[in-house]
Amino acid sequence: MGQRIVIIGAGIIGAAAAFRLQQAGHEVTVIEAGAPCGGATGRSFGWINASFHHDAAHFALRAEGIAAWRRLGLPGVSWPGCLWFEEEGEGFTSFRNHLTAMGYPVDELDRDAVAALEPALATPPARALRFPAEGVAEAVQVAGELLARAAALGGRVLSGLAVQAIAERVGRVTGVVTDAGAIGADAVLVCAGTATPGLIGPLGVALPMLNRPGLLLSTQALPPLLSYIVVAPEQELRQLPDGRLLAPTSPNHQGDESDTLTDSAEALAETARARIAALIGREVRLTGITLAHRPVPGDGLPVVGAAGPDGLYLAVMHSGVTLAAIMGEMIAAELTNGGPQALLAPYRPARFA
Ligand SMILES: Cc1cc2nc3c(=O)[nH]c(=O)nc-3n(C[C@H](O)[C@H](O)[C@H](O)COP(=O)(O)OP(=O)(O)OC[C@H]3O[C@@H](n4cnc5c(N)ncnc54)[C@H](O)[C@@H]3O)c2cc1C
Repeated sequence: MGQRIVIIGAGIIGAAAAFRLQQAGHEVTVIEAGAPCGGATGRSFGWINASFHHDAAHFALRAEGIAAWRRLGLPGVSWPGCLWFEEEGEGFTSFRNHLTAMGYPVDELDRDAVAALEPALATPPARALRFPAEGVAEAVQVAGELLARAAALGGRVLSGLAVQAIAERVGRVTGVVTDAGAIGADAVLVCAGTATPGLIGPLGVALPMLNRPGLLLSTQALPPLLSYIVVAPEQELRQLPDGRLLAPTSPNHQGDESDTLTDSAEALAETARARIAALIGREVRLTGITLAHRPVPGDGLPVVGAAGPDGLYLAVMHSGVTLAAIMGEMIAAELTNGGPQALLAPYRPARFA
């Protein structure tokens, strides 16, 4: 028998879970305080990868993340691959050897091969790694598609409605209280990103979070220039389907350890814009800057699973674009008596208890 499940938050994690839970036969209601994707999801670089990872378990999770997106086969997800030349010398060699030993698809390219694959690069590096398995999600489009699929199966999305509190009686959640009345539920799945600690704190559940502001810039639309996600020294970059370039302003943005912006948004974006212009040997104009706070739990790793009163379940993470499809599958399995998912074992909320 399906349960009545309220999901708090219509970012990419809530959207993927909504689709898979509704598909598994539950009655899903997604409640979103603003508009869907108004949080980190709408201001994400959108790179799906396993080359960035903290440890072997995190690598395995991210590799499954890639496989799960391929299973979903949604419009807005594409697989251009990544061209990486962030480091040279020993850093390059050890990264190549590490990824190869993990069984990750990696091709080493020389300067001529890079120039042939990405002719827009003004100065092709002497060596680069290609990660052919990596892709991108246009996260707003993809989350919208997942919510639409959940709705087509009978789910509901309520937006502009903030959850004020998660209701509990004798050790069980009973639903949520919103600013437009109460909604009953058998289970409440919190996918509220950086707002999660405030929602679960009153239930006695602690979730420390890091402060990780992330800036992205976009440029004017340009003719087709870049085929790959380009990871150059100090600069990640990709071209959107509409021709604009999209780039984080900080290098190695997925492993970023700054808890404040190191300068004004405009100054950081201008520095990144100049790096991009040098990288592709042409002037580019800054047309947009977005700032979002990444939902990063205290140890940098995802938080997924039951916590506190019966029926409460959390899903909060950075790299949510990489992980949303696999999270949707595994959350639906766990909330449908599929048993604990082994890949989630290192990421339980209890580690912060
Ligand atoms: C600059 C930047 C670049 C990034 N690049 C990448 C990348 O390349 N690859 C990658 O995998 N990840 C990347 N990320 C991380 C990724 O975008 C996030 O991990 C992901 O979007 C998180 O999705 P989410 O659904 O958990 O949270 P969010 O998208 O933040 O959604 C949470 C939602 O909950 C809603 N909400 C909050 N409180 C309430 C409430 N009380 N009631 C109702 N609704 C509520 C919010 O309005 C929001 O819409 C990046 C993030 C940033 C900021």
